[in-house]
Amino acid sequence: MTQALQGKVAAVTGAASGIGLECARILHAAGASVVLIDRDEARLTAACREMGDRAAPVVLDLLDPAQASDIDARITAAAGPVDILHANAGAYVGGPVAEGDPDVWDRVLTLNVNAAFRCVRSVLPGMIDRGTGDIVFTSSISGVVPVTWEPIYVASKHAVQGFLHTTRRQVSGHGIRMGAVLPGPVVTALIDDWPAAKKQEALANGSLMEAREVAECVLFMLTRPRNVVVRDLVILPNTVDL
Ligand code: NAD
Repeated sequence: MTQALQGKVAAVTGAASGIGLECARILHAAGASVVLIDRDEARLTAACREMGDRAAPVVLDLLDPAQASDIDARITAAAGPVDILHANAGAYVGGPVAEGDPDVWDRVLTLNVNAAFRCVRSVLPGMIDRGTGDIVFTSSISGVVPVTWEPIYVASKHAVQGFLHTTRRQVSGHGIRMGAVLPGPVVTALIDDWPAAKKQEALANGSLMEAREVAECVLFMLTRPRNVVVRDLVILPNTVDL
């Protein structure tokens, strides 16, 4: 692996498992100092120990507005001024609107949208001062396709896309790039509630992806020349019907 990110500080939210953990691993392997942010202290500590040098944990709960808003100071204290923010943490809920639990839906929107906004708002002033920075979202194919069985998740990821596209235009003149990966179904804890038979079938017929595929796309985005932005990178298992 090239050391294309050597000297960079890269912070990944939701880095204790799934896509965030794979992204932290690949950014670290590319030479970055990584700050792994999550509320799951045990898994975060284990992930940092696995990576060794240049990996620091920041334990916080992004559902708490104060903690999400303070993310820039925490990253800086852990590793120095942030060059790359990967706003990855997210939660999933599916099912018919009429049967939905409003508290669950509030939580999904708070994490997927409000916390991402607070994190971005926290790091932007420093990036603008330094005249450089990268912000990547883990959005979803549900950010552009109205997948009918997951209306709240679709609403949250469409909000991420709208926020990305508007904010990107506001900050591109400051040397800041903003983009998103939009994965289809990936094998992670997020789909633990899928019926086992559905998951088995999806794995067997190749309609699920590994988190590593997403991480490689994030690295690709971050290693383009600075005058190029990869704004929306859709990554689907080949046979997925979306
Ligand atoms: P995951 O459950 O494996 O990882 C999510 C991580 O976020 C966990 O480590 C969890 O502890 C952390 N987290 C959750 N709530 C938190 C909070 N309040 N504060 C701090 N950390 C918190 O899930 P994943 O599949 O890796 O999901 C990561 C992102 O990828 C999400 O934004 C999700 O919407 C997106 N995504 C996932 C899929 C998929 O099929 N798995 C597809 C497209 C997009």
